[in-house]
Amino acid sequence: ERITDKIKALPEDANFFSLEFFPPKTQMGFANLQSRLERMSQALRPLFVTVTWGAGGSTAAKSLELAEICQRQLGLTTCLHLTCTNMSRSLIDDALEEAKVLGIRNILALRGDAPRSEEYREEGQPPEEDSNKDFTWAIDLVRYIRKQYGDYFCIGVAAYPEGHSDESHPEVQDPKIDLPYLVEKTAAGADFIMTQLFFDVEAYDEFEKMLRSHESGVFKTIPIIPGLLPIQSYNILRRVTKLSHAKIPPDILSRLDQVKTDDEKVKQVGIKVLGDIVEHIKKRPNPGPRGFHFYTLNLEKAVSHILEDCKLIPDPNVDSDSESAIETTPAIN
Ligand code: FAD
Repeated sequence: ERITDKIKALPEDANFFSLEFFPPKTQMGFANLQSRLERMSQALRPLFVTVTWGAGGSTAAKSLELAEICQRQLGLTTCLHLTCTNMSRSLIDDALEEAKVLGIRNILALRGDAPRSEEYREEGQPPEEDSNKDFTWAIDLVRYIRKQYGDYFCIGVAAYPEGHSDESHPEVQDPKIDLPYLVEKTAAGADFIMTQLFFDVEAYDEFEKMLRSHESGVFKTIPIIPGLLPIQSYNILRRVTKLSHAKIPPDILSRLDQVKTDDEKVKQVGIKVLGDIVEHIKKRPNPGPRGFHFYTLNLEKAVSHILEDCKLIPDPNVDSDSESAIETTPAIN
């Protein structure tokens, strides 16, 4: 099912959430994740799940394997991330075709970054030659998917609520500088926007306001789904926020600093911190149901607590299609 159709079917004032997973490296990892996914999908009932894609296609087979588990075996509405730089056109074509065969109707269209050489060493394969000059930015992928598949796929695009300038990254990011490109990317055919993770709700508020009030009107009603990272440990938090350039506001940092040597307490404080962020965003005006996307890092507990605390888990009696979806074969539809 297309994500935007599912959102439209919700009551206007409903909240929903989605969960992100990445493909494990080993078969043992897959088996563990599969049973975790079974538990999570039954207990939490996300509106959809997303499966990440390794830059340059480094996880292509494993991403598709995980997407198949989610979509076909578990009957979850699945969104496959797909990057387009440093990828041959045939790899993109294969991924889209395979997604269609699996019954997947949702793609998060990304540019991706140049892969680090060690990722390839891990995978044991040489870097794919960037022979495909047709794909430079995410917008090129959005246009390509629309051209090849019409409206078959519901297309999401990425957005970044916070700016940063960092010598280790070749690009300076600034929501205002990015804006014209985001307008263009959205106008090219995006159906929803999903954001980079953040902890600075004020930066997010400003960003959302800037989009909703934009003179082009392209952001007026499009679902904008904030990306949130459940806090698993102090070290993971510091590492991931450094990679994603998310600032940790001083009040949140001091709450965590007080307990940083006690993993259990960090988790408990983290659940409260995320709960506060969710409740804050819930109160913001929104044209339609309000969604939240969680970067689970394939972990179950923290996100489950946050969803429970924030009453985001849908009532099983109202849920209509997740049971029957397991029996149907989406590819035939
Ligand atoms: P784009 O929209 O192409 O933008 C990239 C940069 O180029 C921006 O700074 C933009 O302002 C600029 N730009 C855009 N168009 C133009 C133009 N025409 N001329 C000049 N400048 C331009 N990466 C992965 O490898 N795998 C994943 O699964 C993955 N999942 C992600 C999920 C989410 C929700 C998010 C937010 C990011 C994800 N990423 C993933 C990371 C993403 O690939 C990187 O952040 C990448 O650097 C940018 O991708 P983009 O799609 O935002 O690119």
